[in-house]
Amino acid sequence: MSAVDLGMPTLPTAQRPTLPTAPAGIGHLRGDRSFPDAARDSLRDGQLRANLGHATATIRAKRAAVVGEVPDWEQLRAAGSALKAATMARLDEHLVALEEQVTARGGSVHWARDAAEANAIVTRLVQATGTDEVVKVKSMATQEIGLNEALEAAGIAAHETDLAELIVQLGEDKPSHILVPAIHKNRAEIREIFLRTMPGVDPGLTDEPRRLAMAARAHLRERFLRARVAISGANFAVAETGTLAVVESEGNGRMCLTLPQTLITVMGIEKVVPSWRDLAVFLQLLPRSSTGERMNPYTSLWAGVTPGDGPQEFHLVLVDNGRTAVLADEVGRAALHCIRCSACLNVCPVYERAGGHAYGSVYPGPIGAVLSPQLTGIEDNASLPYASSLCGACYDACPVAIDIPSILVHLRAEHVEAQERTTPEAVAFRALARAMSRPRLWRAAQRAAGLGRLLARGKATLPAVLPPPASKWTRTRDLPTPPRETFTQAWAREHGG
Ligand code: SF4
Repeated sequence: MSAVDLGMPTLPTAQRPTLPTAPAGIGHLRGDRSFPDAARDSLRDGQLRANLGHATATIRAKRAAVVGEVPDWEQLRAAGSALKAATMARLDEHLVALEEQVTARGGSVHWARDAAEANAIVTRLVQATGTDEVVKVKSMATQEIGLNEALEAAGIAAHETDLAELIVQLGEDKPSHILVPAIHKNRAEIREIFLRTMPGVDPGLTDEPRRLAMAARAHLRERFLRARVAISGANFAVAETGTLAVVESEGNGRMCLTLPQTLITVMGIEKVVPSWRDLAVFLQLLPRSSTGERMNPYTSLWAGVTPGDGPQEFHLVLVDNGRTAVLADEVGRAALHCIRCSACLNVCPVYERAGGHAYGSVYPGPIGAVLSPQLTGIEDNASLPYASSLCGACYDACPVAIDIPSILVHLRAEHVEAQERTTPEAVAFRALARAMSRPRLWRAAQRAAGLGRLLARGKATLPAVLPPPASKWTRTRDLPTPPRETFTQAWAREHGG
């Protein structure tokens, strides 16, 4: 590909024109209920609230301790923020550079406009290998596009290998946290899932974390060794050398990225960084903000294909799925700076009480409240920008300083404006504005309103006579009987015109 049309020219931010809207994101980005409805159920679940409260408090404390050790943390955050903004301003160029480098090193790059295209590409690639199963490294992008379901429909089994993802998959559940998808489950619940669903598991399994991890390891090891295809996400992609990066804590990622013959990486287009110097900043910010570690245990980096070492076929699928529409919004585009650390979830009082499922999207919490409605279009996720008290804790915690509260307010305004075009109230106010700005029309309207006195039959208020949908207004409000004399008439009488 010689040029990438992101609907966005490489101009400084202030000079950017209004851009054509890219296709809205599809996949697991919308719930079937509004946030308040779904949150009401979660709030009644005492066990869920206890699990979440305990887990988020633990991660918060770990994060605070390791962030406090870095004297120039605020400068590092500012650097991360500036690097992301600069990268987004030239995203098209960086993506083309990435493609050139990946291709030069023996990989293949595929472009997907939305989830359906991405799923079709990956399914075709897996089918071409002749296998009917794949191992997966935890990946938000593949969750977003619903890849597992698409593969299943094509007769391909996808085995999640991250412990928390495995728990969610075996329990036929949904992830509720970016970093810890099974955060809503406690040890006893995990033991029950393993006993119920893991073939050959020791019936004497206890809920001791080490025993649970050993059971998962035995279950996964066999799959790692026989898998011919692995599917991963990517935390970062370095454009200057075509290098992909995955950071993780369990080593399952390293197994997936090195053992199978074919590796397919699915990545949102915003994950590219121009250079290794940029990557160095994010590799300092991410582990401290996510798992509360100084350095994550495994950082896997690879570029293309190395003969005789690791996967001999490498495909990179670059997914848009609504991202270029987000990029076109001058305020909202900062949501694309997210490095998926989940720090904003762990400090959010709304997330801690409502849990991740209430957001309906694979992206829960504060970042989900700003990213999902932008990816899908505000009309599909209208309640999410209101799922916040605007306390600002997310902004303070974010390692790339995304001003989430400002984006929330921006999206609320967008939602209100969109509604203003369609609600009966908006139509009524528009008609009123039109009449009030034309004296003749206004006098005629006043004369017509005066007829309402006939309906009042001497009472101070009119009966609820307006037809639906205007009756919604009069059902709960008194409509005063029009006065004998309007203000204009009284003015003319008192002041002579
Ligand atoms: S918005 Fe910031 S704090 Fe939240 S997940 Fe993304 S990078 Fe982390």
